[in-house]
Amino acid sequence: LFVEADLAPGLVLPLDRAQANYLINVLRRGEEDPVLVFNGRHGEWRTRLVAKGRKDGELHCVDQARPQTGLPDLHYLFAPLKSARLDYLAQKAVEMGAGLIRPVLTRYTQGDRVNLDRLRANTIEAAEQCGILAIPGLAPPARLPDALAALEPERLLVFCDEDAPIADPVCALRGAADPAAPPPLAVLVGPEGGFSEEERETIRARPNTVALSLGPRILRADTAAVAVLALVQAVVGD
Ligand code: SAM
Repeated sequence: LFVEADLAPGLVLPLDRAQANYLINVLRRGEEDPVLVFNGRHGEWRTRLVAKGRKDGELHCVDQARPQTGLPDLHYLFAPLKSARLDYLAQKAVEMGAGLIRPVLTRYTQGDRVNLDRLRANTIEAAEQCGILAIPGLAPPARLPDALAALEPERLLVFCDEDAPIADPVCALRGAADPAAPPPLAVLVGPEGGFSEEERETIRARPNTVALSLGPRILRADTAAVAVLALVQAVVGD
């Protein structure tokens, strides 16, 4: 369970009604079952549930179960999609090892009003679900040139380009990022309407960028996102 509060022995964490209901009535946790919590900073802690009614309770911090872990050094840049698909993208990015998530506003972006609070809630939910203890960073939406300029020069940008020559993406990635000593990485996926020609030139002009084909079919942006993140994870690892 994610909590915003600091974690230390003896600290009491009040539960809101939804959390209390979930623990007491849905999971039917008793006082003897430790409830694991994390806040993204202090590792994972065992707590004891003290129920004070059917939808009221608090958690008492006992001890640290797992030390804090870091985040993979992988930036996930994506052109926002309509809200439900954006939720999906944020969750998949966290599950697939993104350490930083940045919406990139491009000419054909459809969902350009990005609700960062909603995005953060999705990253927290995904972190809870996949058992990671750190919450990926959320960078504010940026126009494409600014997002590219914000990348460190040594960061290899993997640009998902359906017009790139259809070559073996694993070889292409291995050739650009030595798995034995992988550079910091960023992946970039375009909007449903694709990148404009001018945007493509801007992306390709960036040194330390590899345009990657994910095969002969045009994938939906969210499919491409999962595919390239899975590929990066398989070739380069966390
Ligand atoms: N330009 C596409 C078209 O002609 O319909 C629309 C873009 S596609 C729906 C959304 C994004 O997914 C693209 O900008 C690209 O980043 C990625 N993508 C889709 N298919 C891909 C492929 N076969 N290889 C690499 N990237 C792909």
